Amino acid sequence: MDNNNYQRPRKRVSKETARKRQLIALGVIALLVLIFILLIAKACSKDDTKKGGNTKPTENKNSVTTMASTTQDGSMTTTSTTTAPVTNPDGSNDSGFKLDKYSIYLDIGGTDMPYVQEYPEGSSEADERWSSSDEKVATVDEWGHITAVGAGECYITLRSAADPTKEIQVKVVVADGNVQQTSNNTNGTQPANLAEAPPPPVYDMDGLTYKDGILIANKTYSMPADFNPGLEPICSEHFQALSSAAAEEGLNLWIGSGYRSYQDQEIIYNNYVAMDGVEMADTYSARPGYSEHQTGLVIDCNTIDDAFGNTPESAWLAEHAHEYGFVIRYPKGKEDITGYQYEPWHIRYVGSKVATECYERGICLEEYFGIDSYYH
Ligand SMILES: [Zn+2]
Repeated sequence: MDNNNYQRPRKRVSKETARKRQLIALGVIALLVLIFILLIAKACSKDDTKKGGNTKPTENKNSVTTMASTTQDGSMTTTSTTTAPVTNPDGSNDSGFKLDKYSIYLDIGGTDMPYVQEYPEGSSEADERWSSSDEKVATVDEWGHITAVGAGECYITLRSAADPTKEIQVKVVVADGNVQQTSNNTNGTQPANLAEAPPPPVYDMDGLTYKDGILIANKTYSMPADFNPGLEPICSEHFQALSSAAAEEGLNLWIGSGYRSYQDQEIIYNNYVAMDGVEMADTYSARPGYSEHQTGLVIDCNTIDDAFGNTPESAWLAEHAHEYGFVIRYPKGKEDITGYQYEPWHIRYVGSKVATECYERGICLEEYFGIDSYYH
């Protein structure tokens, strides 16, 4: 009895325990299966969002943001009519790449290197693939070191090996002649303290309009399609001086866009017209032959975006550009006179005499010369 009595409860307990254990085991198995299912589901949905994130939004960005951010100045230095992906040397980042510069001006033998500040998602330094559109003008090595070989223009392309649809281009202009003016030349011969910036050169060519020796390019005054001066050295030299002075104050001003030919502008303008119609396009982009960039005396600073207007660089530029012979060409409040929206980044070289007077009197070039700017 004692034994039985003793055994029974033991048996009963062990039965209950067994049932409990069974239940627990079942529960654990069910839980494991549930976790497993959840993990698989999660992995699948992760794949989906990853795919979506890599393709759809970027595609949208390519087709929409590109336009929106480049429109302000029409400053997409369009390289060619070739297809997607659209790259914006003005710095807007629809390719996923972001560089510290999108235009490089060199003399033969000069070298420079754009620094990659951002990569497309899933891409890294190891995925950089550099190539040159014309190795007779400039070569590039696997690290992005660019060497100027011969006079002319070409484009250096940076493409992601991980995602070859992501690419961005840097325009390289190699000047003829042997003036020491490479962009990484930081010796004392740089014109860092130009007391006075002389007026720009005068071209003897039919179809150009000069006022007091200053070439006029606005909606009233156009230039012939074959007027093709390239970026004027006097402009790039004084920009270098300006940029060095800004750098001494810890500010970073670079050439976002410089010279554009008639043909470059034709492509850009037609793109905008196709997108926004003539009326809208005319408020922010010049018709071919009417773009001040064709004068070779214009530089768009940094990233061409309204946000530039809120940077210390923009404030410094507004206060000091005239000391180096530049005017802020399309000032705020002068839209009806210049015919263009406010563009804090677009500076025009006119020499310090004209620039200083415009600055001190708070007037734009049209007011200075008493001319108008509208398409006739
Ligand atoms: Zn511009």
